[in-house]
Amino acid sequence: MITAQFYDELNHNSVQCTLCPINCNLENNQIGNCQIRKNEKNTLQALTFGKFCSLNIDPIEKKPLYNFYPGSQVLSLGSIGCNFHCHHCQNWQISQPHKTEKKINIQAISPEKIVDYCLSNSLNLVAFTYNEPLIQIETLLKYLPILQQKNIKTVLVTNLYINKDPLLALLPFVDALSIDLKAFNIASYKKLTTINAFEVVKGNIEICLKANKHIELVTNLVTGINDNLATLKNIEQWIEELSINIPWHITSFYQAYEYSTLSPIPINLFEEIEQLKNKSKLNYIYTRREQNTKCPNCKSIIINRNNYKIESSLISLYCPNCKKIIPYIYV
Ligand code: SF4
Ligand SMILES: [Zn+2]
Repeated sequence: MITAQFYDELNHNSVQCTLCPINCNLENNQIGNCQIRKNEKNTLQALTFGKFCSLNIDPIEKKPLYNFYPGSQVLSLGSIGCNFHCHHCQNWQISQPHKTEKKINIQAISPEKIVDYCLSNSLNLVAFTYNEPLIQIETLLKYLPILQQKNIKTVLVTNLYINKDPLLALLPFVDALSIDLKAFNIASYKKLTTINAFEVVKGNIEICLKANKHIELVTNLVTGINDNLATLKNIEQWIEELSINIPWHITSFYQAYEYSTLSPIPINLFEEIEQLKNKSKLNYIYTRREQNTKCPNCKSIIINRNNYKIESSLISLYCPNCKKIIPYIYV
């Protein structure tokens, strides 16, 4: 635990956290909405600084990032807490630790240990994932520069619900972001996450793009909330205006947590999504049926994926068939 950054001291022993737009106003001993930032004697404490409960080696495709070193393995670290409270969260036992009776084993792991682990396992990528990493910003601001110095690339898997100043402080040390764009209007965002995050997330995506970060967007369909073609068309058009090269992943929710009995996505929507995809100008739309990366020019398959496994891969930035350069991809 260390004293947090990004907060203001208020009168009467209360503090205001300014890390995310919830801007929690906390009395002495109160914990923020994310469960990991606490007012202790008029200072805000980052309770999980440098502490993690999950450590795995995953394919980068699992984040999902399909255009960022495809086929690579990534050291993936997760901790507890989240500033969203999604009803369908697959990782709710770590993201909502106050809702589970399960004991979560959370341990300190130093940045040097992470570097050593990467070097001894020939890994060049580290992801902060599983729970929302931005609420642990003090950890990121300490760890990411150390990883960067060792030429290890860093990935955030995030809801991107953060205030502008902390985001700008962090971005120089981040290489790639897999960002949830959960819905495309205020009401649906709130229904899914309990937070009115729509405009902030959109604005922050534009900030990441302007900062030349590699970004990929993920829209996870949830029955009755965002699973309609009109929403998907609006998202597609908005991404197209930003850049036709941004990869967009359309995935489907798993029945979990408070939505464990919600009915699955209607099957006919997947047909409609394929039609939307075929008409779209976006170069990279990934769906349950289409996980391959195709050359935007000649449409030949340049990366063939099967269930996160790469069966054939791009070895240079040029399409082996038409020889044109493939935009917005790292190999
Ligand atoms: S980061 Fe946590 S404590 Fe800070 S404003 Fe957001 S929810 Fe509240
Ligand atoms: Zn080609």
